[in-house]
Amino acid sequence: MQQIYLDNQATTPLDPKVFSAMEPWFTEKFGNASSRNHTYGWEAEEAVEIARESVAATIGALPKEIIFTSGATEANNIALQGAAKSYQDQGRHIITVKTEHKAVMDVCQHLSKDGFDITYLPVDKGGILDLNKFEDAIRDDTILASVMHVNNEIGVIQPIKELGAICKNKGIIFHVDAAQSMGKLSINVDDMGIDLLSISAHKLYGPKGVGALYVRRKNPRVQLQPIMFGGGHERGIRSGTLPVPNIVGLGKACDIAADVMIEENLRISQLRDTLLKGIRAENPNASINGSMEHRVAGNLNMSFPGANNEAIIAAVPDIAISSGSACTTSTMEPSHVLLALGMSKNEVYSSLRFGIGRFNTEEDIKIAVKSINHCMKKLGKMSFV
Ligand SMILES: *Cc1c(COP(=O)(O)O)cnc(C)c1O
Repeated sequence: MQQIYLDNQATTPLDPKVFSAMEPWFTEKFGNASSRNHTYGWEAEEAVEIARESVAATIGALPKEIIFTSGATEANNIALQGAAKSYQDQGRHIITVKTEHKAVMDVCQHLSKDGFDITYLPVDKGGILDLNKFEDAIRDDTILASVMHVNNEIGVIQPIKELGAICKNKGIIFHVDAAQSMGKLSINVDDMGIDLLSISAHKLYGPKGVGALYVRRKNPRVQLQPIMFGGGHERGIRSGTLPVPNIVGLGKACDIAADVMIEENLRISQLRDTLLKGIRAENPNASINGSMEHRVAGNLNMSFPGANNEAIIAAVPDIAISSGSACTTSTMEPSHVLLALGMSKNEVYSSLRFGIGRFNTEEDIKIAVKSINHCMKKLGKMSFV
């Protein structure tokens, strides 16, 4: 049975247009973008540079400020470890937030073992970081702050532009994990005061295994020590033969997003509202986790008091939904994001994430509403839930 895919925060399906753009680069155009002596190399290099321009244009950057990586996890690692190593003489304090993705949290944990002092700022009930708390946390020895743009579990949007202005004012490097916002919100690295920005292709209808790190070249020129060594590709920051088909796919995904973003957000937010209304109609005590006002279109995260999320998921086999982040479900720990909102463990274990994307239809949402409501009725009849 083909499940209806409603887990677009875990990954998005590849857009067929992206696939078409990638295809020739797997087959007849197989050159190494670093080969200088023949047309195979030249055409691959040209394709990479066109993709680099697409990525740069999407965030208001220069092409030479874009470093291709294997994804946002690697981009976050290069950004945080690379900046920490470069700036440690100026201080060893780093600021981040309790609701960050593991690809930031675990890097920070690693850095703290290396003698860096990490501040994990709390968020309010809506999941939003307080600007005053952020500013107050900055010390003389603070070198870097890392705040995600959009949260992968609850979809809430942090006030990046305001945070960026504070960082500029205080002279600290500002890193933003934009894996969930790229292609969904407009991003301009200059307007938002961003120095380092991580993106991932597979969250915007591109292929898995590719992403990028934006590295500011002016005001300030950000220094990053590489964390991996090899052929000196990507300005020495990320050695390794470039995956040309994947990079072409990322570029195409950015081009498409720029074209469709506004219209798509409108359509997806209508689907999300239909889903919410449909669930609420029969489950009036189901509550929304995180701010609804500051949230991307495709995300809905809800608690179903008295029910267990794993039991719900097992009881709705026709839809693909998640109990939280794909990266933390394997550990079965309660979501650190939902705990940071002040929710109890029981509330966390009753929470579901719905992720609506480009290829979902009204029919999908109808089926999802029906399945959830049917399941909740069934579970409600069982005394032990
Ligand atoms: C998916 C995701 C990542 C990891 O990206 P990969 O490209 O899969 O390594 C990092 N941060 C956030 C917010 C994400 O949603």
